[in-house]
Amino acid sequence: MGIEKEIWAEIKAAKRILITAHERVDGDGIGSELALRQMALEAGVEVEIVNDGEVPATYRFLPGVETVRVAAGGLEKPVDLVVSLDSATRQRLRSVNDIIQPEVRIVNIDHHISNTNFGDLNWVDGEASSTGEMLFAFARANDLNLSPEIATCLYAAIITDTGRFCYSNTQPKTHRVIAELIEAGARPSEISRRIYREERLNVLNLKRLATATLDFRLNGAIAWMDVTADMHRQTETDYLDTQDFVDIPKSIKGAKVGLLFREIAGDGRIRVSLRSEGHVDVNRIAEKFGGGGHIRAAGCTVEGTLAEAHEKVLAEVVKAMESQ
Ligand code: 5GP
Ligand code: MN
Repeated sequence: MGIEKEIWAEIKAAKRILITAHERVDGDGIGSELALRQMALEAGVEVEIVNDGEVPATYRFLPGVETVRVAAGGLEKPVDLVVSLDSATRQRLRSVNDIIQPEVRIVNIDHHISNTNFGDLNWVDGEASSTGEMLFAFARANDLNLSPEIATCLYAAIITDTGRFCYSNTQPKTHRVIAELIEAGARPSEISRRIYREERLNVLNLKRLATATLDFRLNGAIAWMDVTADMHRQTETDYLDTQDFVDIPKSIKGAKVGLLFREIAGDGRIRVSLRSEGHVDVNRIAEKFGGGGHIRAAGCTVEGTLAEAHEKVLAEVVKAMESQ
């Protein structure tokens, strides 16, 4: 039996499942959760989706999103299976770990090459553009109905993780899947409008403050910018609003590595996002700081001030670029 069928058999055998994804859930995480929720519900399985934190406003149009809860609220009822989506490690589930009953089996579905296979059943496909693309294959392998709602959630998952089909994880297969999702009822213009063309003015103001900090090394081959707690205060925004800000340094002409440094208010740590255009493996750089991700998109958290984080992380980026 293929792994897709094995996982589906476990889900169908469960009465109630918990679906979760990595902290600071993104479009792939939430889209995948909601798509799998629909698949399970249609098979008569009860579902709870619980994450470490809130769903970013951008994704609150997705069908079923109103049922998503945060771990601080606990489980509604005991579950007999956990499905972790899009999370490379158990630690990245953060506070959701506190509500997982120790005896319950964990299914781990993910596309991060750095995945630690922490589940009792692991399906990790580092070649897939997104967890959403894996769940499309999952639906096909198990002959599941692709409702317009499921198609919408998977479309959102794939478009966000491929950076609107711009990143190198975009493959012929990705577009074939997208074509089938549109045939199944996903509406590209509507989904793109909700995700990309309804920017709130306060977020745009935050972007203005952040771009003022743009800085460079190695003649512009490394570009980065900061988001500080003070900027959030000034613009009444929070970290959920900055998920795609790293695209700004990364998309400057000549920049081979783009970084975003985000201050986490009150706890003396800096959240670092790394993106690479060329051959630099940012997953390896992030791993040096206890993070990870993919070759061209990774993240980590560094103790200290912004200046300290710049110094530590940029030194590793310079080293990686000079050793090429
Ligand atoms: P982002 O910079 O958007 O937070 O993350 C970029 C990519 O790296 C995402 O695919 C994300 O899941 C992964 N990633 C980010 N931070 C971490 C981390 O601390 N650990 C691991 N293993 N992966 C991460
Ligand atoms: Mn993903």
